[in-house]
Amino acid sequence: MSSAPTSGVLHASDPPVLLEVRSLVKHYTGQRRWFGPQPPVVQAVDGVSFTLSRGETLALVGESGCGKTTTAKSVLRLVEPTSGQVLLEGVDLLGLDAEQMRLRRRDLQIIFQDPYASLSPRLDAGTIVGEPLRNFGIASRSEREAQVVELFAKVGLRPEAMRKYPHEFSGGQRQRLGIARALALKPKLIVCDEPVSALDVSVQAQVINLLADLQQEFGIAYLFVAHDLAVVRHISHRVAVMYLGRIVEIADRDTLFAQPLHPYTRVLLSAAPVPDPRRATQRILLEGEPPSPARPPAGCRFHTRCPQAQPVCRETSPNLTERATAPGRTHWLACHVI
Ligand code: SF4
Repeated sequence: MSSAPTSGVLHASDPPVLLEVRSLVKHYTGQRRWFGPQPPVVQAVDGVSFTLSRGETLALVGESGCGKTTTAKSVLRLVEPTSGQVLLEGVDLLGLDAEQMRLRRRDLQIIFQDPYASLSPRLDAGTIVGEPLRNFGIASRSEREAQVVELFAKVGLRPEAMRKYPHEFSGGQRQRLGIARALALKPKLIVCDEPVSALDVSVQAQVINLLADLQQEFGIAYLFVAHDLAVVRHISHRVAVMYLGRIVEIADRDTLFAQPLHPYTRVLLSAAPVPDPRRATQRILLEGEPPSPARPPAGCRFHTRCPQAQPVCRETSPNLTERATAPGRTHWLACHVI
C-alpha cells in the first residue's frame, strides 16, 4: 500500500478544509470455499488521500473500475472502508457509532447517477423531497411543506409538480428532484456520483449549471465522480486522477487540463473530445488492458502499460508528491520519472 501524503489545498490563502481523507483503503475479500485456495483480495481503493475545501468541487476521474466511486462511497460510509481516516471538520467519521453517524449524515448527501432508481416510485415528489426533513424531525408539518415548496423553486420545478410521481417526470426533472432532496438538510458536502451521465446532452448542461449555482448560493462542497472530462472541466476546481485504486495526479483544473504531467493523465486527456478541432491533440493509445485490482502489479501500478516506464517503476511505488508550480497553483504527482 502506498503512503500517499495528504495532498491538495494546504496553502495559507486557501479556504478552510472541510474534508480530509487520509490513506483510505477499501479491500474486498471473496468467500473461501471449503478446502479451496485463498480467494484474492480486490484492492478497490488503496491508500487514497486528498482534501476538499468548503465550497469547492473536487472531481475524481479515471477509467471504470479505478476506484473513484468506491472512494466517494467510502467517504459517506455507504461502503465501509477497510482502513484510513475520513475527517469531516476534524472529526473522523470512521470512528463514529451508528447513531453518531446518522446525525452526521445531515452534513453529507449524495446525488446518484440514475435518478429514477434512487426515487421511490410509490411516493409523490413532495414527499420524496421532504423525507429527509421528516426523518430528522425538522420543523412542523406546515413549515416542512413551505421548505419543500422553496426547494422545488430552487431547482427549477413548479410547485404543482409536488403531487406528481417519479415516472411522470423527465430524466432531467428527476435529477432535479434528487438534487432538491439532497439539499433539504443544507448539507456541507454532496457526493455527486456521475450525476449527469444518464441524461441527454442537452439536459446535462442545465443540471451542471444548477449544481454550480447552488454551490455559489450555499457554499456546498462537491466530491464529483465522473468519466466525462468535458463535464469535469466545466464544474470542477480541482481534479484527482485515479488509476487502479490510487490517485496518480491532483491539480487545479486549469493546470491539469493545460499541463497534465502523469503519463496516464495524458492518455486520458488525449482520448477526450475537444470542442475546437484545431486544438485537438493526437490520441495516445495504451497497450493492453488495465490489470485486475485483485492482482495489481508491484511498484507503480501503471508500469505494465506506461510508455515511459523504467526499471525502478517495476519495483517501487511512487509517492504522491507536490511539484513546483506557478504561485497559487497546486500540482501533486506520483511518478518516478516526471
Ligand atoms: Fe510510468 Fe514509471 Fe511514472 Fe509509473 S512511475 S507513471 S511507470 S514513468
